[in-house]
Formats: sequence, C-alpha cells, structure tokens
Amino acid sequence: MTTDRSRLHIAVQKSGRLSDQSKDLLKGAGLKLQGGKNALTARAENFPLDLMFVRDDDIPTFVGDGVCELGICGQNVLEEDALGHDAPRTETVAALGFGRCTLKIAAPENVAYSTGLLAGERIATSYPRMLGRFLAERGIAAEIVTMKGAVELAPRLGIAKFVCDLVSTGATLEANGLAAVETVFASEAVLVRTLKPVAPDLAERATALLTRINGVIATQESKYIVLNAPKDALIEIARILPGADAPTVVPLSGRPGYYAVQAVCQESVFWETLEKLKAAGASAILVMPIEKMML
Ligand code: ATP
Ligand code: ZN
Repeated sequence: MTTDRSRLHIAVQKSGRLSDQSKDLLKGAGLKLQGGKNALTARAENFPLDLMFVRDDDIPTFVGDGVCELGICGQNVLEEDALGHDAPRTETVAALGFGRCTLKIAAPENVAYSTGLLAGERIATSYPRMLGRFLAERGIAAEIVTMKGAVELAPRLGIAKFVCDLVSTGATLEANGLAAVETVFASEAVLVRTLKPVAPDLAERATALLTRINGVIATQESKYIVLNAPKDALIEIARILPGADAPTVVPLSGRPGYYAVQAVCQESVFWETLEKLKAAGASAILVMPIEKMML
C-alpha cells in the first residue's frame, strides 16, 4: 500500500465490533468523513486524515510499520502482536472506553476446575502468545492449539479440552457448555500511534487530533450540574459531586444565605448521587450534557 505522505492515515476495523464506535469517535472529534459503505478508505473533508478500513488483526502491523500513523484497535490484538516483536512498534495514546472484553480460559461446565488441571491438556485459542505467557508464568506445560475463529467449538469437536477466548458477557461460552475459569488479559479499544518517525507537520496534526479525541472521551462521561443550596450545605455538596474540581458558587439574589453551585462532573452522575445531593440540602438540581470540552 502506498500512501499520500501529506496526510495522516488512521487504521480502523472495516467491519466488526469496533467499526461503528471508531467512526463515531472520529465524527465526534469533528471530522466529516467521505466514502461509501464498502470503500476501503474514507477521506476526512475538513482535516488532513484518511481512514484505512482493514481487519483488526492487521492494525498493529499497519501502525507498527508506519503505513498508518494512527490506529484504533483492541489492546488484546496489540498485545498479541507486541509479544511477537523484540521492541515496541506502537505507542498507546488514549484508552477509548469501548470494546471492553477479557481474554479468559474456559472449561467445560461439568469440570471441577483448578489451575493444575490445565497441565498436559490441549487449549484452543486465537491468542497463542498471551496464553503461552500466562502458562509460562505459572509453570504449566500445556499444548496450545491455535485457531483463527470459532474457538468455543473446539471442546465439542474434540480438538481441545479447554479454550482461551475473548469474553464480554459470557453468553457465547455458556451456549457452548463452557464457563470462564481464568482471566488472562483485560482489554478495551485504544488509539495507538506509530513509533516510526513522522514528518513534523503531520505529527503536529496527529497531536491536534488526539487533543480533540481526548475532549470527546472526557465529554462522554461528563455532565454539567447546577443546583441551589444553603451556605451550611456547601461543603457536603462539594464532597458528593462526582469527579468535580472546585465548583463555582455564586449568591442567589433575593435569597440571603442561598447559593447557586455549578460544576463539571467528570464521572457518571447517577440518580443515587442526586438523592444524596438533595438529602444534603440541594434543590433545583439540573444535570446537563456537555457538547464539547477541551482540557
Ligand atoms: P476482523 O474481521 O476485523 O478480523 P474479528 O472477527 O477478528 O474481525 P471482532 O469480533 O469484530 O473481530 O472483534 C474486534 C475486537 O472487539 C476484538 O479484538 C476485541 O478487542 C473487541 N471485543 C469486544 N468484545 C468482544 C467479544 N465479546 N468477543 C470478541 N471481541 C470483542
Ligand atoms: Zn480479527
């Protein structure tokens, strides 16, 4: 693949669990994307960035080789790739809060499991390096059977007794008569940057994009809270507000001893939080979404 060196390139999954949220994140960062549904690339109209739609497994290679300066993929895929190289080739620059899953070893439901049971058995996985490390760290000698997909079928097919696969809810394992018994690696989608040299002007644009993306991530969880409170409740209210820096406190006109409190909360605001605020003396509590934020 030859690429236009006057523009940035970001590798994103073409179709799969990360595709929609990867594109949404970039759109949230203000990029207007051109390109049809089945295109291999898309161009940002208003930023020097091209999206390259590829298989998630190829993203560490594209970014590691510097074909794409940036990429979005699961830490699971990056870690498995990194274990196959002597030195790091990519740098993680943001955790994106989606694509959460865990690489787990699963056993047939009817097995009374203990770690020692893995010794001498066959374990099917698409992540042989991470599984190999897990076993080596525990001094367990087992046979790793590498499969590209449909790993959870291996026990039924008699290919392996155990599997080591990605799990989010566990429903797929359960449907195949398996239960998770060991955690090998916890993962979420991340933004990575190549460690290959990048032209200074492009590196600067990449940093600008990263600042915007960090703003989008911060905004997703954040809320703007406004409430009224009497003076003696202010300290307790500031303590309850989740993830807020010093709130703004201004006197209410015509209501001596009462203040309006305004704060950006950088953690989820639950009903329980509002109930606690009310119990502490707050009234007229408003929780508002934040559209954009630059930290
Ligand atoms: P590709 O065609 O791109 O190779 P794939 O089938 O390997 O696709 P997906 O199943 O779309 O990949 O998963 C992509 C990523 O989504 C995984 O590598 C992982 O980081 C994340 N993910 C989140 N939850 C799960 C889950 N329950 N099972 C598998 N992957 C998950
Ligand atoms: Zn894949």
